[in-house]
Amino acid sequence: MDTTEFRRRGKEMVDLIADYLENIEQRTVYPDVEPGYLRSLIPEEAPEEPDTYEDVVKDIERVIMPGAASPACTELETVMMDWLGKMLKLPEDFIAGTHGQGGGVIQGTASEATLVALLAARCRAVRMILASDPQRPETGITSKLVAYSSDQAHCSVERAGMIAGVRMKKIPTEQSDKYAVQGETLRRMIQEDKAAGLIPFYFCATLGTTPSCAFDHITELGPICNAEKIWMHIDAAYAGSSFICPEFRPLLNGIEFADSFNFNAHKWLLVNFDCSTMWVKKRSDLIGAFEMDPLYLKHDHQESGRYFCTDNSLFRSLKMWFVFRIYGLKGLQDYIRKHVELAKEFESLVRADQRFEISADVVLGLVCFRLKGSNEVNETLLKRINNGRKIHLVPCLLSGQFVLRFALCARTTESRHIREAWQLITQLAEEVMQELPH
Ligand code: PLP
Repeated sequence: MDTTEFRRRGKEMVDLIADYLENIEQRTVYPDVEPGYLRSLIPEEAPEEPDTYEDVVKDIERVIMPGAASPACTELETVMMDWLGKMLKLPEDFIAGTHGQGGGVIQGTASEATLVALLAARCRAVRMILASDPQRPETGITSKLVAYSSDQAHCSVERAGMIAGVRMKKIPTEQSDKYAVQGETLRRMIQEDKAAGLIPFYFCATLGTTPSCAFDHITELGPICNAEKIWMHIDAAYAGSSFICPEFRPLLNGIEFADSFNFNAHKWLLVNFDCSTMWVKKRSDLIGAFEMDPLYLKHDHQESGRYFCTDNSLFRSLKMWFVFRIYGLKGLQDYIRKHVELAKEFESLVRADQRFEISADVVLGLVCFRLKGSNEVNETLLKRINNGRKIHLVPCLLSGQFVLRFALCARTTESRHIREAWQLITQLAEEVMQELPH
């Protein structure tokens, strides 16, 4: 949709809302639908090709309005999470509509999803221990719990440990292993902790780490977690969107071992903030951990309506519905592929310049690069780039080296922007290298 159409559609939407408000007294406040009404009104999967905007808007009246005042929220969210889960080719265990025990729920952020998974894992671990040892005091259990994540994991994982009041140990990674957590390292840490009387219960794997877009080996780590009854959560905040493309889907192999999986559709799947999509293999793990049963939430369809731990949000699922239909699966795949191609273009420019080096494999839309030389020279280059206010780069430290990160994330980026950015970066690098020893 170009800006001319966007203006027109925006005005039409205001009219639609104004009409709704003007005629609101003709509508009923309490819905007259049965649980599951919505699933039968829309297709089981997202369209391959785009739908027209008119068709999408028409469906608001046909699909959403009959379930106003709540069921529509829960139902559209569940069905949209199934659509997206199918786009990702998630195992059926994670799809609610397959009569399995799992399903998806939308969170605000990846940080929230990590915390929710950690709290559910803590609850499951405590219940499991109490089931075999009912006399054991609960505080005595929680003080022994230990969770793990990569030393490359996002800081929100460590923070989740702080909030949940459990130990969170960082698993060391190596440059030679491409900054991925190795099964052997996790296994050793678990054995050492068990020998010291601790109770390993949660592991947060990362697919697409924040510093360098590294991928933990979940095919190797998953079976270890399953054997030890450790909850494996997969944080793919950024990289997750790419798994809708068959060529990137192998990066998610091993998902079958996970208890929960999350990525930010608002990061790289064109859905506006906030929309962080999370799936669990067993809904009961979340429902059980966060169960509340106040009178004001009771209704006739309690069992089918009461779903997950969050207040299901119609606005988040409507955004997904609109985006998936207006782009179609193919349009979304093209969008991801274009960013990866542009990242590869930037990588080739860096590799062709002898003064620079690439610091980590370029798998998706992130290029980690640096000037061959000191950290000081790279820090100075970064400051110059950001002070120019045309490009914004966020750095990282990889094995003690200060690294610049070129991340493709804008919808409108084209090849010419990549070339212009590189020209500016090399021009500033030239200046910095003349001023500083490197
Ligand atoms: N996990 C990873 C791998 C990330 O890259 C990020 C953000 O960049 C996060 C988690 C945190 O995401 P959010 O801001 O949605 O909490």
